[in-house]
Amino acid sequence: MSFVWRKPNESVTLLNGSFQTRSSTLCPNTLLPQQMIGTVARVGNLVRPSLRILLIEDSVDDASLVVCELARGGYDVMCERVDRPAAVVAALDRQAWDIAIASYGMPAFAGAPAIDLLRQGDADLPFIFMSGTIGEDAAVAAMRMGAHDYIMKGNLTRLLPAVERELRDAGVRRERVEQRLAHLAYHDALTDLPNRALLHDRLDQAARVANREGTTLALLLLDLNGFKEINDTLGHHAGDRVLQFVAARLRATLREVDTVARLGGDEFAVVLPLADINGALLAAQKILDELAQPCVIDGQSLIVRASLGVACFPEHGASADTLLRKADVAMYVAKSDGVGIAVYAPTRDRHTHRRLTLISQFRKGLDESQFFLEYQPMLHLQKNMIIGVEALVRWNHPQQGRLLPAEFIDLAEQTGLINPLTTIVIETAIREWSQTGTEPRLTVAVNLSPRTLLDPILPLRIADMLAVYGAPPSSLALEITENILMSDPARSMDCLQRLHAMGIRLVLDDFGTGYSSLSYLRRLPVDELKIDRSFVAGLASGLDEVIVRSTIDLAHNLGLTVVAEGVENENAQTRLCEMGCDAAQGTFISPPAGASVVRDWLRRQTLLGLP
Ligand SMILES: [Mg+2]
Repeated sequence: MSFVWRKPNESVTLLNGSFQTRSSTLCPNTLLPQQMIGTVARVGNLVRPSLRILLIEDSVDDASLVVCELARGGYDVMCERVDRPAAVVAALDRQAWDIAIASYGMPAFAGAPAIDLLRQGDADLPFIFMSGTIGEDAAVAAMRMGAHDYIMKGNLTRLLPAVERELRDAGVRRERVEQRLAHLAYHDALTDLPNRALLHDRLDQAARVANREGTTLALLLLDLNGFKEINDTLGHHAGDRVLQFVAARLRATLREVDTVARLGGDEFAVVLPLADINGALLAAQKILDELAQPCVIDGQSLIVRASLGVACFPEHGASADTLLRKADVAMYVAKSDGVGIAVYAPTRDRHTHRRLTLISQFRKGLDESQFFLEYQPMLHLQKNMIIGVEALVRWNHPQQGRLLPAEFIDLAEQTGLINPLTTIVIETAIREWSQTGTEPRLTVAVNLSPRTLLDPILPLRIADMLAVYGAPPSSLALEITENILMSDPARSMDCLQRLHAMGIRLVLDDFGTGYSSLSYLRRLPVDELKIDRSFVAGLASGLDEVIVRSTIDLAHNLGLTVVAEGVENENAQTRLCEMGCDAAQGTFISPPAGASVVRDWLRRQTLLGLP
């Protein structure tokens, strides 16, 4: 049974039921339906707020009293009376209500089920219990059930203030919800940073201002390196904590006027108003330095690394879209070149498209044996003899020709294809050097991605390959980088120790570029350390001499041998030899080449008396 209160000459209209009409003197609420305007009805000069009440009440008379009381208070009341659960559900489905008033003691449909139904239909609907007999206990129980207020049927003077207060409170609650929703529409829930939409807005604004006032503007795009590994190995909870850590570090590092946003996943953006390329590079370096401080997640110390792409106004574009796209290109360049920071360069602009194509072609390349190895000889500086080669993987791409690891290793890691690639590389390296017959036997070194150490059967697979070709474990060296323990230290360390126990040489590659420390070095079961090429290049200017010299001393004190990479001239080779460096590789000694070319070269060196 239901009715709608809205009739020109009578205060209560009966619909589908037997509710008795009341005289207009009792309820002076006389409105034509067509006079309803939105939620406010206008009669003459009077503006009355309209009120939609859902009345859960089995007494027609009591319902009438409620409606009249509210109409007397100045409301334009639209009311539906219901007294069965199904009718409550139907009424909630049919339309929105401003308030629900329920009789507490209905025999067929008591308080608790009524409030449950209401909460299911509209969790925030203001709700008042009304009772003729309510005692203090029942009142408390009603409030506990979630009623906002209760009133006595015998004292309806409290009805109007109670309704007004509930409507006001509901308005405040709604406003808060709306504010929260508006905030969430433009902010990332995990980090509370502006999201992509707000970043786009701010970047657009900043670009307009810079255009108008002839000032500069920089955009940085930042993507974490190896974030997938963190998620895969430590779980998404740890991944989320890392993202929050990065967000906090970015916010703390930058100026108040800079916008820091999370674009999604592990990608962040920074808008730097008034910054030029130099300013952007300074900010980018500051960010990398800040992120290099270890972050402790669930008791594990992690090093967060990132790649940053830089695009600037006016050099690289004038619109938000262009700057975003170009910073993205620069970011991928930074990532694939492993350089940390890259400024947009038009020559690399096909990169993004190219990268996407490469992903789809990678698996095909593995199936069709498009990957091959080149080897760079390693010279023992003190003995002046070749002691080993480093295997370097290349991709003979059907369309793009010869690709270097920087162009596809990252892809292989992201697509999980690094393990099959590593297997192919190790197998090929052992096969191509096991029968060389040099004396002493050359060591062949293979670079390992951190991810491959998480493969529990890697040591067994390597043992099998060595056995197949009859190669002793000491003829194989595995080069790892300083971030090898970043994602799952326990698992990676276990794998390293098993490999080491097998007699395989372990080499710490690119030493000096990561987060190195003496204690870290001591923890790793390595036999050899490779000084990064950037320090060797710095020897020419005398800049990095102290670093190289102390690294050699440090390594020797730890019982490690030292190899210098990137030796490009005689001067560097002589200096390294004088400093006591054990071995060196670089284009001055020999560029990388195919196995047969290197073997020929080795034979010629022997003829020249070099061994
Ligand atoms: Mg290497």
